[in-house]
Amino acid sequence: MERLQKVMAHAGIASRRKSESMIEAGRVKVNGDVITELGFQVKRSDTIEVDSVPIQKEKLVYFLLNKPRGVVSTASDPKNRETVVDLLHEVEERIYPVGRLDYDTTGVLLLTNDGELANKLMHPKYAVEKTYLAKVKGRVTREDIRQLEKGVVFDKVKSAPAKARITNYDRKKDHSTVELTIHEGKNHQVKKMMKAINHPIEKLTRTQYGFLSVEGMQSGVWRELKQFEINKLQ
Ligand code: URA
Repeated sequence: MERLQKVMAHAGIASRRKSESMIEAGRVKVNGDVITELGFQVKRSDTIEVDSVPIQKEKLVYFLLNKPRGVVSTASDPKNRETVVDLLHEVEERIYPVGRLDYDTTGVLLLTNDGELANKLMHPKYAVEKTYLAKVKGRVTREDIRQLEKGVVFDKVKSAPAKARITNYDRKKDHSTVELTIHEGKNHQVKKMMKAINHPIEKLTRTQYGFLSVEGMQSGVWRELKQFEINKLQ
């Protein structure tokens, strides 16, 4: 569901402000009824008319990006840093990332203009599994893994149980590599979980988002999702 004025703005009718004035003036119908309420929520399947002319909605598009380091995963940045949307500058639709990866985190990121699907995927109830590979300081022990599997406390709440395994230990550098699968998506979750067990992260990459991975895709490379992948996400 999205606000009527937002859908109108995305369809190129007018700015959100101007669209609001058009709604208030009684010029907009949803499924045949005049709507003058500004917060009115519409579904994709609703028919919207302005001055009795149906609006053309933006085509829904879906992309998978192998996010590089040093790029923000918001549509715009107050500090003017490069954004993930800048990396897909050939795309004409107004896309945005589904969830966030930190500035220094790399890996799988989904971008779309499908607000309904994005909201669904980000909802805790839907619980998309996300797998991360974390290079951390120190030697991660079996006991640490058990803690991650039980859930660790950070920001005064306990994380849901994670799947975790040690994939490597570099004795010389005293670094471990841990693969962690979680379905929650709290801010800086993996970094906080690893810090809570005293193994701060040095490098983090998301290798999997549900069934999607960026295996074989260079850093910064993106591709359109295939129709069967879109269907599977719905
Ligand atoms: N957890 C983090 O700490 N950072 C990310 O970018 C993603 C998950």
